[in-house]
Amino acid sequence: MNFETLAVHAGQDPDPQTGAVMTPIYQTSTYAQEGVGRPRQGYEYSRTRNPTRLALEKALAALEGAPYALAFASGMAAIDTVLRLLQSGDHVIAGNDVYGGTFRLFEKVLRHFGLDFTFVDTADLEQIAEALTSRTRLIWLETPSNPLLRVSDIRAIADFLHAHPQRPLLAVDNTFATPYLQRPLELGADLVIHSTTKYLGGHSDVIGGAVVVKEEALYQRLAFLQNAIGAVPGPMDCFLVLRGIKTLALRMDRHAENASRLASYLAKHPRVERVFYPFHPSHPQFAIARRQMRNGGGMISFLVKGGREAAIRLAEHTRLFILAESLGGVESLIEVPAAMTHLSTQGTTLEVPPNLVRLSVGIEHFDDLLQDIQQALEA
Ligand SMILES: *Cc1c(COP(=O)(O)O)cnc(C)c1O
Repeated sequence: MNFETLAVHAGQDPDPQTGAVMTPIYQTSTYAQEGVGRPRQGYEYSRTRNPTRLALEKALAALEGAPYALAFASGMAAIDTVLRLLQSGDHVIAGNDVYGGTFRLFEKVLRHFGLDFTFVDTADLEQIAEALTSRTRLIWLETPSNPLLRVSDIRAIADFLHAHPQRPLLAVDNTFATPYLQRPLELGADLVIHSTTKYLGGHSDVIGGAVVVKEEALYQRLAFLQNAIGAVPGPMDCFLVLRGIKTLALRMDRHAENASRLASYLAKHPRVERVFYPFHPSHPQFAIARRQMRNGGGMISFLVKGGREAAIRLAEHTRLFILAESLGGVESLIEVPAAMTHLSTQGTTLEVPPNLVRLSVGIEHFDDLLQDIQQALEA
């Protein structure tokens, strides 16, 4: 079946008991057993398994074209669980432009547990090759990255790693692109990670995360960790993500249409120094983006003239674009990464330019969005 059909139906057959078309919210912590140690249909306790969560996991797997997915309480919970596949002494190569929370988890939490991290520009395969050591077990990519929207060539990196005798795992945080735009597992990645809080949920009303894999052994290890650690989403949150997923394709097309038009406008604006948008011809990895992604997505970053002050003034003068962290909802958001989402990277090699502004372009009418950005740039 095609993506749009899977988004509506995968994992979501009518409820066998009642015929309910929408997946019920199984708000239960435990399940009656038929006999001692004989659970009905595999359900014992909701940290381990819950029908609403299982429906979401099946839907997520189908969208990424994979057999297995696991849902988590947040994107960070998903990332933390993946990192626990490793052991003290292991080395990870990560993008030097990753989500601020990912950088914080790696650098300020997991480093204390004996994991070692090297941050490189993953858009440059040479830098990955140079950072590889005999202890490297995992490569962590975000593409497009946050906030600079750099694009890494997933297939080229996967081919390089597959040929390497150590065979480190390749994980791709696919939050920005969503499986509608890009399917990393089909390009050779081993794991896909999502913050379902963003486009998959799509309505800024839920926090969630997911890991999707194609190999059964890896899935079994992650399912063990999911249960052992317990950072699982509640059934209501799973329901909200499931509902969001149904309209993912429609929303992503509209997000991308609005964003690409806005990127073209910004690129020509005299008060704008530079625009970062994967499908804008000025993007350094434009060709790879065109090959790897269905469209350019809904995120735009740009540098304004006038430094930090000008960026803050702009972000405080939009009326429709809401000044807020996060992204991927139907409503348009604006933020200044250096002062907001990426504050934790200050003073490090991952520091982002102070005059960078990030837009999460929503699905409103384009003319209204354009008018809002126009008047804010004039202010
Ligand atoms: C938001 C985000 C995360 C973290 O997800 P939460 O759901 O906020 O925990 C991870 N990666 C990317 C790319 C994100 O945008």
